[in-house]
Amino acid sequence: MTVTVRFAPSPTGRLHVGNARIALINWLFAKRHGGYFLLRIDDTDSERSRAEYEEAIRQDLRWLGLSWDRKVKQSQRLDRYAAAAEKLKVDGRLYPCYETPEELEYKRKRRLARGEPPVYDRAALKLTAADRRKLEAEGRQPHWRFRLEDGEVRWDDLVRGPCHYHAAHLSDPVVIRADGTPLYTLPSVVDDAELSITHVIRGEDHVTNTAAQIQLFRALGAEPPAFAHLSLLTDATGQGLSKRLGSLSLGELRAEGIDGMAVNSLLAKLGTSDPIQPRSNLDQLIDEFDIGKFSRATPKFDVADLTHLNARLLHEMPFIEAEPRLKQIGLDADEAFWVAVRANLTDLSQARDWWHICREAVAPVIEDAAFARQAAALLPAEPWTTDTWKAWTTAVQAASGRKGRDLFHPLRLALTGREHGPELKTLLPLVGRARAQARLCGETA
Ligand code: GLU
Repeated sequence: MTVTVRFAPSPTGRLHVGNARIALINWLFAKRHGGYFLLRIDDTDSERSRAEYEEAIRQDLRWLGLSWDRKVKQSQRLDRYAAAAEKLKVDGRLYPCYETPEELEYKRKRRLARGEPPVYDRAALKLTAADRRKLEAEGRQPHWRFRLEDGEVRWDDLVRGPCHYHAAHLSDPVVIRADGTPLYTLPSVVDDAELSITHVIRGEDHVTNTAAQIQLFRALGAEPPAFAHLSLLTDATGQGLSKRLGSLSLGELRAEGIDGMAVNSLLAKLGTSDPIQPRSNLDQLIDEFDIGKFSRATPKFDVADLTHLNARLLHEMPFIEAEPRLKQIGLDADEAFWVAVRANLTDLSQARDWWHICREAVAPVIEDAAFARQAAALLPAEPWTTDTWKAWTTAVQAASGRKGRDLFHPLRLALTGREHGPELKTLLPLVGRARAQARLCGETA
């Protein structure tokens, strides 16, 4: 059977690094096994789902380079969920419940106070047809729960190893709301079954759902897929990421100049013992991927690691990878430029600055006008190469008697208008003789 996985975000907010990690691992798994990666939009909650979040999810995935083979929207498959619910009702696996949220909360607290697990007590199963008619006559609409069968649910998790849950420790999940709309558990299983999902790879926050969902697959006459539950990321102090999610949204990271491949390079390896290396394309990550490398330990995500990796990625990035990225930020740059400046970048947008210095007008900073003019008079004739700087500064040193910082720093300030930057031997040929001459003479050029 062809490996088929899905990434199933709810379009109720922006994707953050935790979501991106699940998407990436699913994608790498699919590619590693020559399979399919589906994007499933979990938009059955029509109040909280927004078209603009769905669009942002697609944009974010494209930014990471995670293309999907097929996209499905749950809101367009409601008839499938209704059909499944009907079958389960006929089979006696769904039962109507009438408790209000307040009543459920009260029951939950009471059980906790008695030291019992806060599972639903199945009171609704005891209602007679007359009781139900009476409740409905009072205007109560039922929500529907899936009746779990007693016994142990087992699966061999690809990350957590053998897992087992006793159904008695779980609440019968609500699968249909009082307004008739389906809740996550049922649509997810119907889709996984009908779209032939072979592996469900998601966060460990879904482990207990899995136990109930395995029973639901079977109740619908489908064989459950394989499951892998990944430990959730925490921040550097071990806290869940949820509080800082806004700042860790992919949109925010992109706006800060982080490259999608820096995100991928980090997230593909967090939680494994593989070294974290900057990778400038996904192919290497596919080759190195193995779901068995992910441990149960909680991986820490530190945004500082990401910025650091982003810088390393740029420093090592070959021109062939850099060129399309430079085009995207409006720079039609050549290889000589890229090789000259890449070691000085922490994010790609800074390349603009150096492009400006090499190719557009810059106001020089002149510390000592006489010295700058003396240096200008000694500029050799073009063509210039990376050897020009050495030949020129040797001549300037001999004529002026300056050396070291006294010699080089004023030249850098005059030529670039900046205190620091890429090596002048690579920058000088890019600036060119005409601009160098003018800048040394104090002109904006
Ligand atoms: N929409 C669900 C979520 O974002 C999907 C969970 C799943 O992968 O089954 O948590």
